[in-house]
Amino acid sequence: MNILKLGSKGPEVELLQSLLKKMGFYKGNIDGNFGPSTRQAVIAFQLSVGISADGIVGPNTWNALMPYINGYTLYTIRQGDNFYSIAINFGTTVNSLIVANPNVDYNNLQIGEQIIVPFGNIVPTNISYTTDILDVNVNSFRIVYPFLETGTIGITALNQPIRYIKFGNGKKEVLYVGATHANEWITSPLLMKFLETLSKAYVNNLKVFGIDARELFENVSLYVVPMLNPDGVNLVTGKIAEGSLGYNRAKAITANFPKISFPSGWKANLEGVDINLQFPAGWAQAKEIKYAQGFDKPAPRDFVGYAPLTAREAVSIYNFIMSRNFSLMLTYHTQGEVIYWQFQNYAPANSLDIANKFASTSGYTVADTPFESSFAGLKDWFVYYYRLPGFTIEAGRGTNPLPISQFNDIYNKNLGILVNGMLQ
Ligand SMILES: [Zn+2]
Repeated sequence: MNILKLGSKGPEVELLQSLLKKMGFYKGNIDGNFGPSTRQAVIAFQLSVGISADGIVGPNTWNALMPYINGYTLYTIRQGDNFYSIAINFGTTVNSLIVANPNVDYNNLQIGEQIIVPFGNIVPTNISYTTDILDVNVNSFRIVYPFLETGTIGITALNQPIRYIKFGNGKKEVLYVGATHANEWITSPLLMKFLETLSKAYVNNLKVFGIDARELFENVSLYVVPMLNPDGVNLVTGKIAEGSLGYNRAKAITANFPKISFPSGWKANLEGVDINLQFPAGWAQAKEIKYAQGFDKPAPRDFVGYAPLTAREAVSIYNFIMSRNFSLMLTYHTQGEVIYWQFQNYAPANSLDIANKFASTSGYTVADTPFESSFAGLKDWFVYYYRLPGFTIEAGRGTNPLPISQFNDIYNKNLGILVNGMLQ
């Protein structure tokens, strides 16, 4: 984390403001601008934890904020403690403590012993979701929910890992993918929040959307790639700072497309290749259509690349899918509350039924893909190659990037899709 002070800007300031707001020190908007009211809130927080109250967020202040970022804290056992009293004190559950401390004998707690205490939520749903946030969230998942498997399916041009998280041990494998398009990053916290909800329900033996989380865990292996395009997301969210090398390269690419706003109109990876036009399912048709529209070179969106499967992100997800045995996949985008289920005339017999089920739980519309965007997408290739159900879910409405204020509405509408996708 960087040092933040009066005048600082960007997603780390958003994170800071959201934490101070959660604790009641900050009343203003989460706008990513470190102004006088943010400084006041920092000072109040620093006083409350007994560190030097200089209004500057350096290593000590970040350290003091870490439990609120991580969603867990370290606690040293004292005389008379037990898991029940600790759970009450921190507003958590005994089950959460047991799961997060697999090596602690809770019938025989030792004074001075350190334990992990999960509390609150891990995944923030009111700030820009950069790779920094994804990284800390995945680390917290590893500690608080050690039954999740986490890993990497590839590395981007800017050396960002493309992460996956697996929930469940079942025979049936399904895949959910978010943030293929940079300015549709709201789909990353959507999938991460879903994983958190599932995991919390699994630990506490609860249901999600009417389905027993433990039953889902036993029957399904859900693989989630929450952010297929981390470089692009970092550009759009402001994590790649103005004036940096990556920023300037992207800006130079956009200069050829003056009608596209920068960086908010950016969908591609940082090389200017649209990852969702990279798959071997009518790629030549996609090329013809997009080149004719003027996207015949690296662009903020709609450039298919010089050949299919040349973008690292596309190759990574392609190889990952090839190495597994998925029976269904969902790929999340954010254009108009629509569900796409077909590739040309290819679709397995049950796809339309599943799409209709998704539509009934979400209120979204089942639609045919518009011709000019009906080739070379990830879902297109999955349906074409495997003849298995694959869906593009277009969550939310409005101009990308959708404001994070839409998060709760999008989450509530998609919860039924996300659970039902595991049941098909
Ligand atoms: Zn999209």
